[in-house]
This record gives sequence, C-alpha cells and structure tokens, in this order.
Amino acid sequence: MAAEVKTTCPYCGVGCGVIATVDEAGAVSVKGDPEHPSNFGRLCSKGSALAETIDLDGRLLYPEIAGARSGWDEALDLVAQRFSETIAEHGPDSVAFYVSGQLLTEDYYLANKLMKGFIGSANIDTNSRLCMSSSVAGHRRAFGADTVPGTYEDIELADLVVLTGSNLAWCHPVIYQRLAAAKAARPNMRIVVIDPRRTMTCDIADLHLAIRPDGDVALFMGLLAHLATSSAIDQNYIASHTEGFAGAFAAAAALDINDLLERTGLPVMQIREFFRLFETTSKVVTCYSQGVNQSSSGTDKVNAILNCHLATGRIGRPGMGPFSLTGQPNAMGGREVGGLANMLAAHMAIENPEDRDRVQRFWGSPVIASKPGLKAVDMFRAVADGRIKALWIMATNPVVSMPDANSVESAIAACPFVVVSDILRETDTARHAHVLLPSLGWGEKDGTVTNSERRISRQRPFLGISGDAKADWWQLAEVGRRMGFAAAFDFDAPAEIFAEHAALSAFENNGSRDFDIGARADMTGAAYDELSPFQWPQAAGSSPGVTRFFADGGFYHADGKARFVAVEPPATDRTNADFPFTLNTGRIRDQWHTMTRTGKSARLSAHIAEPFAEIHPRDAIDAGISSAGLVEIDSPHGQAIVRALVTDRQARGGIFAPMHWNDQFAAKGRIDALVAPITDPFSGQPASKNVAVAVRPF
Ligand code: SF4
Repeated sequence: MAAEVKTTCPYCGVGCGVIATVDEAGAVSVKGDPEHPSNFGRLCSKGSALAETIDLDGRLLYPEIAGARSGWDEALDLVAQRFSETIAEHGPDSVAFYVSGQLLTEDYYLANKLMKGFIGSANIDTNSRLCMSSSVAGHRRAFGADTVPGTYEDIELADLVVLTGSNLAWCHPVIYQRLAAAKAARPNMRIVVIDPRRTMTCDIADLHLAIRPDGDVALFMGLLAHLATSSAIDQNYIASHTEGFAGAFAAAAALDINDLLERTGLPVMQIREFFRLFETTSKVVTCYSQGVNQSSSGTDKVNAILNCHLATGRIGRPGMGPFSLTGQPNAMGGREVGGLANMLAAHMAIENPEDRDRVQRFWGSPVIASKPGLKAVDMFRAVADGRIKALWIMATNPVVSMPDANSVESAIAACPFVVVSDILRETDTARHAHVLLPSLGWGEKDGTVTNSERRISRQRPFLGISGDAKADWWQLAEVGRRMGFAAAFDFDAPAEIFAEHAALSAFENNGSRDFDIGARADMTGAAYDELSPFQWPQAAGSSPGVTRFFADGGFYHADGKARFVAVEPPATDRTNADFPFTLNTGRIRDQWHTMTRTGKSARLSAHIAEPFAEIHPRDAIDAGISSAGLVEIDSPHGQAIVRALVTDRQARGGIFAPMHWNDQFAAKGRIDALVAPITDPFSGQPASKNVAVAVRPF
C-alpha cells in the first residue's frame, strides 16, 4: 500500500505543506497538503515538480578527499584536524562556515553553536545574507527584534495590498494565488505593484508604479510626509508606542516634490493616486522582498516602509502591517538560531554582554564569540586575501550565486582548505573542495523549517538514504566531537537538537525577547515526529502561539516602544558612459537558485529554456540588438552571453536577467559574475538589482 508522508516544500519562503506518496514500486508523487495553514493544498509549478527532481543523477554519494572516495571517519578526522590546526596556529577568526537557507533549523543550530560557542568566532554567514538581511536589520532598528508582525491571512484580509520589490507571481506563487483569489472574491480590494519592470504580478494590479531602481526610499519618505498631514496619521499610536517620529518626519518633509519625481521617475498623478489609496484605506499590507532587500539602501528602504505603518498604527491588526517575504525555505529558521554573522542565537544580540553570557552558560561553552563575524561579501574577501584559511560551505553554491562570482571562485580555489557539504558532486563550488561530504536531500532529510509568517513546519523523510549520505547536523556534530567538544555535540537525532534550541529560546526569557518556543522544549521524539505546523512565539504554558504583534505596542526596545528611523534618499544611478545600463537580477517562475535541482525537470525547463536579458524595444534598436539574438553583457567584474528578450515590460535604460544559470547550463549564463560587491552599510546585503553594465550584440 502506498505510504503518505506530510512534509514541506524545500524551495521558497512560502513554506507550503506537501504530501509525498511513495507507491509499492517506489515511485514518488506529490500534492499540496490541504491541512497546511500556509498553502491549504496549493502548490506552484516548482512544488508540483518535486518528484521529478529527486533522482540520483549527479548525486554525491560518498565522502571524497582530494577527489578520491574515502570513508566518513577519514574525512571527518581530516576536517576536524585541519580546522583545529588552523585555529591553533592563526586563531579562531581564521576559519569560517558559509551556510544556507536550505539547511534545516537543526543543521543551522549546530553550525552556529560550533562556530560561536566552541570555536569562538562569529565567522558563520549564510546565503540568506543575499536574501533578507536588510529586513532583519530594519526590523531590529524599528522593533528592537527581528519580528515579522503579521501572517499570510492579513494579505487576504487587506483592502489595499502594496507589493514593492516583489514579483509575487513568480517568486512566491502560492501567496500570489491566495491574493488573486481574495481579489476575485472582493473586487474592491486594490493592489499596487512598485517595480521597475511590468512583471506578471502586475496582471492583477490596479496600479503599477514603474519606479526607478532604488527610488523606494524617496517614495516612502514622500508617503510619510503626506500621511503626517492627513487624517490617516494616528497620533495616539505614535505617542503611546513609538519614539523618533519628529526626526523621521523632518527628514521626509525635506524632500521636495521635484526631488521626489526625479528620484522615483514616476508621474505625479501616479504618486498622488498611490498616496491617496494608502491614506484612505485602513487595512493596508505592504509586502516587500528582494527588490527592497538587495540594495545598498535596503535597510533604509525597509525602515521607510515601517515608518509609514507605524505612523498610521497599521500594524499587527487583521489586514494591516508591513510584511517581509523571505526568499528561502528556511531563511527564517536560520535567523532564529543565529545563522547570521551578526546575530547570536534565539534572536539574541552578539553585541549584548548579557545575551552572550546567557548563551554561553546555557551551552556550557569554553568561549563565546564577542564581536560580529564577517558577512558574506566580506567573508569571501577574507578568503581571497588569506585571512580565512579553512572554509566549510554547506548546501549552497557561492561560485554561481555570490556577487562578483569570478572573484569568489578565485578565492575559494586558492583557499588552503575547503570543505563542501552538498547533495551533488559537481557543482561549480564543489569542484574546488578538498573534502566533499555527501548530504541528505529533500525526502531524506528530517527536521524543521520556518516560513515567512513565522510558521515552523516539519520536513520529513520518505525516501531511503542515498549511498552513504548523512544529515548536515550529524556531520557538524561529528566534527564538533572530534574537535574535543563531545559533550556539547552528543546528539543522536534532530528531535534532540530541536528540543535544545527550544529550551535556549526560553532560557531566562520571561517575555523579554520575541523568539520563544519554550512550549516545545520538552518534546519527545514522538511528539517531534508528529509536530503540526505552528507559528512562533509559543512560550511555555501559552497555546496557541501569537498570530500578530504590536497592535498595542509591546516592542522589544528596552522602553517597549518602536523607533521611527530618519532615512536619507540614496544616490540611485550607477551608470556611466562605459556602462550605461542598469542590470536588475532576479528569479524566473520555474527555476530555483542555481538550478541544481529544478534543472533536472524537463517540464520546468520548458518554461524558459535558456538565460535571457529583457531589454526595452527602443534600447534594442539603439544598440542594434535583434529580438532573440545573442547579447553580451559586461560589467567591470565579468561578462555574460545570453539571449535578448525585447519587451516593453522592461523600462528604458534597464536590463533584467535571471540569476539561475551557470556556465554549465549555458555557455556564459552566470549573471552574478557581473554584480558588483556593493553592500548595504547596515545589513551587508549586496545590491544585486542596481548594477551598471554595457550591452551589445554578440
Ligand atoms: Fe514550494 Fe514556494 Fe511553490 Fe510553495 S510557493 S510550492 S513553497 S516553491
């Protein structure tokens, strides 16, 4: 009889529940889980094709040392020995982990524990740095903690949904399906899309603001100044629950209308209509994603948005609030355990001595990292200049996905010791590993993930283990034991790690910190196996958890108040005579990240078969580019050769190109090789959507 297993999709941050069925012959099929409260049975094209991506073709099945098969003991001994020797000779900051929003929370927890609590460095960062770290920084500035105030239901309950920097239709398709269904049921609902491109999401928009790249800060400053003089301002909320309104308003009011028009590139009538809709609609949700986060002003963009919701008290109530849509399946789980170089664990702050002391006592660790570690871009710079001499990369492919990818590849190739844990043997990054460790893939893994609405769900195994692959948490625990920390890494199952993570979240908490899942701290293995999706926080003795935050204040700054942030509009135009176009990178509907899994599905590849660059028809004529001809795109950092897609969906002066392809799937499709390693000063997130390039026929 066919067995059904409830699990979670491993792709985007929507975190859809999936039912996987394995029949008597071993064939796998998938369908949406109708009982999962994030997707209610829906799946997108990628989720529906999961069964087509789990074959063994290309899998890394056994550990390898220098390209030759080895046993686990030999490989793990070598990893522990080389990391220990490097630390002994050069100090704890000479080693680093670069991990991933693909890891399960239990994997992430042990990686963070080993690096920050036992090695004594905070040099652990993640590809989530490229995804949502500006939202983390913005949340912490405004709320005092990295808390998403709302829930997916709010997007359906709103009367106005503002989507800024979000191609929801392609990048969070099931939320798009929920939004489109809500609008069909309530046609008076209004949707505003703010995006330089006319994306597929605009198909359900009442208003599309084709904003200039990075014009968002100015637009939301203008909105704040407008709201402050309107009836929408909530003086009671501002006075009772916030600080800093006067400064933020003064900064916003200093932006005159001509500056606003210039920086946004928008017609005045469109700006007025957007401001009118926002002013006159109480139930507003503003969703933001990579178009906001992946910017040198990403954190200010987030705070400019949060300022408008705080000024109107539209936060934490049904159908109201700002909403950060995370890109990856477990970007949120990584944040919870401290998977970012500037966070500690359980949303505690590495800069806070009390937090450090609390975590160190809980772990019983010999040391604790005392300062933030290197964020992704700086981490690979440190690899390049030799400060980092041993690097462990888990579940990610930075040679394709990091900005300035050619330099990142050179840095990894020259690093004295590189360990790669992955499910595939021949990724662009794995090629440079001294030690390759085979990890479990989706369907084999066992653990938890957290989606964009703070919902923790189980990924459950339903396949046999391939070859000699092992869980990432097991690899970390084994290396931790071999480095001399046996007692702290004595785990036999992911349930034990989750219970420790939950206990740490509640340790000396007393409601003073946002992340608390203490109600799950004493779960047995059986309870973990049966765990139903739930939203955090869920402190001991409180059930169910908290659905929404901050309607009545209760922020996590010491005085319980939120902070307005006075932001400044950034310089937005990076182009010059040699590189006159602005490249905007992003995702397409049917591929995931560097295509190592979705690239296996012929059905998914049929949607868009090769890398492309969208260019406006007038720009194409001026540059002598013909539709479907090959074009060469150059930046000071690299080159790509892709197919021209001439379309007026793309604004003049801009080019959009997807980030999925590498030089294996296409002759020269590695778009992140072109992206300059420019980062936001607060979050360290790279500016992947505003890159000066040249384009010409190839
Ligand atoms: Fe998976 Fe995201 Fe699609 Fe849901 S929307 S099925 S989580 S890729």
